[in-house]
Amino acid sequence: MLDKILATVDKIFSSPPPEVRFEERKYPVFPFENAYQGQNSAINAILDLDRVVLCSHTGSGKTVVYLTAALLEQYRTLVVVPRNFLQDQIEEYNEKFRFINGDGVIFTLKAKSKYRCKFGETVIDQEKCLPCEARYFDRSQKKHVFEFDGKIYPYPCLDCEYEKKKNEVIEAYKNRRILCLNQGNFWLAFNIKEKNELFYPEFVVVDEADEFARAITEGVSVREEEMIIMAENSTEIQHLLKKMNKDEILAINENPEMIRKCLASFHEAVEQLMKDVMEKIDEIEEELQKKNLSKSEKDMLKAKLVKLRRQLDYFERKISKITFFANNIDKIFVYTKTDAKNLYFEMFCSEEELITRLFKHVKKLCAATATPFEVSKFVKVNYEVPFKARVIYAPVGKMTFKEVFQNGNTDLLKKAVVDYVIPIHHYISVLLNSKVKTPIHCGSLRRHGTFVADILKNNGQSVLLHEEGKLDETIRKFKEKDYDFLCVVAAEYGADWYWCPLQFVLKVPYVNPYDPRELAIKRRFGEEIWRKRYEWDALSRLIQACGRNTRKPDQFSITVILDKKFEELYAKYENLIPPWFKNRLIWLGGEDESNRGEENN
Ligand code: SF4
Repeated sequence: MLDKILATVDKIFSSPPPEVRFEERKYPVFPFENAYQGQNSAINAILDLDRVVLCSHTGSGKTVVYLTAALLEQYRTLVVVPRNFLQDQIEEYNEKFRFINGDGVIFTLKAKSKYRCKFGETVIDQEKCLPCEARYFDRSQKKHVFEFDGKIYPYPCLDCEYEKKKNEVIEAYKNRRILCLNQGNFWLAFNIKEKNELFYPEFVVVDEADEFARAITEGVSVREEEMIIMAENSTEIQHLLKKMNKDEILAINENPEMIRKCLASFHEAVEQLMKDVMEKIDEIEEELQKKNLSKSEKDMLKAKLVKLRRQLDYFERKISKITFFANNIDKIFVYTKTDAKNLYFEMFCSEEELITRLFKHVKKLCAATATPFEVSKFVKVNYEVPFKARVIYAPVGKMTFKEVFQNGNTDLLKKAVVDYVIPIHHYISVLLNSKVKTPIHCGSLRRHGTFVADILKNNGQSVLLHEEGKLDETIRKFKEKDYDFLCVVAAEYGADWYWCPLQFVLKVPYVNPYDPRELAIKRRFGEEIWRKRYEWDALSRLIQACGRNTRKPDQFSITVILDKKFEELYAKYENLIPPWFKNRLIWLGGEDESNRGEENN
């Protein structure tokens, strides 16, 4: 099998770049002379239809399609993206659209921490605090002020980059330009929208729609302090807490009326805490007016202020989410989940339903995605650009937890790493005459990830193990330091691996079937619906991962899938799999290898 894989790698490497078909651009606003075949008709579809799912792979130019449509429509357009780095990518299109308006047409508002503060040498990161977070209301001057290095400044600073950007964005939005928000500031805008027409968009694009939907449905957690207030007002919550105390893993889903009451009391608890925070801010502001405070007393008060302002911000986002959950409980399945320590409200619904409900008043909606989802009201628009990138399926065995660890087949993992991962990695390093960095999607961290990292280390390889909950940091470390391999989990959506010519999918990324979320869905909708959702979730994550290590048609990149479970899922959900993925797939093994052959390549 290894020889077959290496021969296939050689063939892909030496093959000429794919023949990409272009067509003349139909709209002069389109910022390139020529369009990829399919882009003109995708723009037409967005212009003609009110509800569109734009389905194409990474690097195929979906962004320029929806931005062109937005500029032609001249609607007040909101683009929502799930991650910060996607905002940077969208912002880069301003250069390309510069001919329309010298000042640019796309305005992105990122988190405040991403803008340079004049008191900081570099961009301030989340951990450090901005001097103005310790602002207070000066009664004699009747305005907010803050202190830095012993001097008092009015808030906000006239030349504050964030404030400038915010005003620019608001102006632009009034003038029907395009506003791009990330998931964090989207919730703030969503809240403002209720009160302020300014944030009421006419056209909404949800980019990476499936990732966005996943993040939104993950829901909202209840903190201990909130839980205490809720328990005071609600017997339902008391009942929940009692069960949690027994260390039970449970998911309460049977009774929507009960969830409604719990949400109402959650809302009340957060509002009460917000009021408390505001009162405390007032008290500290008053303290700060006192003339005879020592420096250390002042510093202590300022530190408290920063903490309280951050809490307030956190509560505001939370209120938006709770309101959305409560307003949609009749149409969307909302349930509570506990893991014996924490309580969460989550929801389960299709991507289409979620996006429709979030943006029910907008004239035009477009969801852009690389992995399609089922739709009834939206119209799917597909197009594909031929890429040199390939996905090689070379099964070593079933890599499930049950197969490998419960049935004692850890040799399978050793074989996968020693006989395939290491030799293919070295072969490609030699082929490219450079040290390649190779991510391995391990499916689970504590078992597969740790085990694989140990095998690699024992075989003299330098490997980084994904630090739980710190994906961005882990990737940065992997990129900057001298590692050959990264054992990573749940990175199918949150990462871009275009700088890695090789990656492995060691295990199909199923979520834990015993997670209370899965149990709640199974109980409410039955085994069949749950299983379909559960399996398609794993397969679509895998498909996503396979599209993430390439951006250009002529870029050489390989993904090797080693888990035999893939084959089962492929057969079951073949009709849902996007054509771009099927066209990249090369079967080297598996039950029906002979039937699939290389005609798909
Ligand atoms: S208002 Fe002033 S202190 Fe605050 S972020 Fe802006 S420049 Fe920095």
